[in-house]
Amino acid sequence: MKYDYCVIGGGIVGLATAMRLLEERPGSSLVLLEKEAAVGRHQTGHNSGVIHAGIYYPPGSLKAELCREGAAATKAFCAENGIRFETCGKLLVATSDLEMQRMDALYERSKQNTIEVHRLGADELKEREPNIRGRGALFVPATGIVSYAEVCEAMGRRIAALGGEIRLSTRVTGIREAPDAVTIGSEGGSWQARKLVVCGGLQSDRLALLAGLSIEHRIVPFRGEYYRLPADRNDIVHHLIYPVPDPALPFLGVHLTRMIDGSVTVGPNAVIGFAREGYPRLSVNLSDMADYALFPGFWKTVFANRKSAVTELRNSLWKPGYLAQCRKYCPGLGLADLLPHEAGIRAQAVGRDGALIHDFLFVQTERMLHVCNAPSPAATSAIPIARMIARRTMETP
Ligand SMILES: Cc1cc2nc3c(=O)[nH]c(=O)nc-3n(C[C@H](O)[C@H](O)[C@H](O)COP(=O)(O)OP(=O)(O)OC[C@H]3O[C@@H](n4cnc5c(N)ncnc54)[C@H](O)[C@@H]3O)c2cc1C
Repeated sequence: MKYDYCVIGGGIVGLATAMRLLEERPGSSLVLLEKEAAVGRHQTGHNSGVIHAGIYYPPGSLKAELCREGAAATKAFCAENGIRFETCGKLLVATSDLEMQRMDALYERSKQNTIEVHRLGADELKEREPNIRGRGALFVPATGIVSYAEVCEAMGRRIAALGGEIRLSTRVTGIREAPDAVTIGSEGGSWQARKLVVCGGLQSDRLALLAGLSIEHRIVPFRGEYYRLPADRNDIVHHLIYPVPDPALPFLGVHLTRMIDGSVTVGPNAVIGFAREGYPRLSVNLSDMADYALFPGFWKTVFANRKSAVTELRNSLWKPGYLAQCRKYCPGLGLADLLPHEAGIRAQAVGRDGALIHDFLFVQTERMLHVCNAPSPAATSAIPIARMIARRTMETP
């Protein structure tokens, strides 16, 4: 059978895209292929569960716009589908002169992004969060928490209700584009579609190469390792607590995150992974490692970021180092408070020149659109990203 649309990848970006295509073009045929036995098993199911407000991103940038819109759309989707979410707010805590300066710059940026942010002094911070210490903080009331795995399940149900098919346990092994259709192959069979959208997350570069595209980047897996607090420490914070980020490496800095199930996680860090989809600490996949080791951009990025790479690795291997990062703003935490929690793995696109790609990256041909980079906050922004992808996909017949 020839489908109107095929989507590869049952993470939040693929699911939101399938949903949008069916909403825009009711009655069209669509199949979504996912290699795992359930949706949301990779980045989407292993993230911090934060609905970001979008204060970090350059004013007027696509990332800022999609995040602000995405936060509202995610909350609306949750409300419509009976998914629990909580708008608990976030505090960005400054603990030094340098962080106070960065905090002020962030405050100005948030005003340009028209996001509600309040500047708090040390006493106001202590009043809101008695267990947190800092010289000042920014309070972002709109930040929320949710289980993105639950969002994915609800999107899956909506796709089925709109007449779409989801094929689980189906690993795509071949993609061939011809003038009139794209043929997608797996061990279990093949499909033809008028249009193909590929949202492969950690495998997105391999899927692009499989489809014969020439790309100038590769995916490097960055582990985001977490700990979890003991249940009797879950009320240690009432908001999400973040350090003020270094603008050069905005994804670094472990935070205290209240999860929607009531637990509190500490993390994530960012260390180079030895496997794209191996979550236990000692996971190694030689083919994954060879892929990035043979890519010149990988070594350039390691060299350019060697200082932070060494610090992150040391703190990953040495728990007291990890703890010290949180004790800067939460001095009451001890080693016994850091219990094991499953890691997440970020699909970090790295350019041939060694640059870490922080923006969304799409590669489009006549009949295919490949989402080559969907970095954080893509879970928050998935609904408007999907609208953009659907519009581009439907532009041509
Ligand atoms: C540690 C961590 C914390 C984060 N925290 C947040 C946060 O708090 N808030 C936020 O907004 N964002 C956060 N993010 C970012 C966010 O989770 C990701 O940007 C988003 O989930 C990406 O979704 P995706 O659908 O592109 O990828 P994924 O969720 O990885 O989905 C890709 C899917 O493609 C499938 N696939 C791959 N290859 C094939 C194949 N050959 N055949 C069939 N299927 C295939 C995979 O099995 C997978 O299900 C975080 C990310 C990480 C890793």
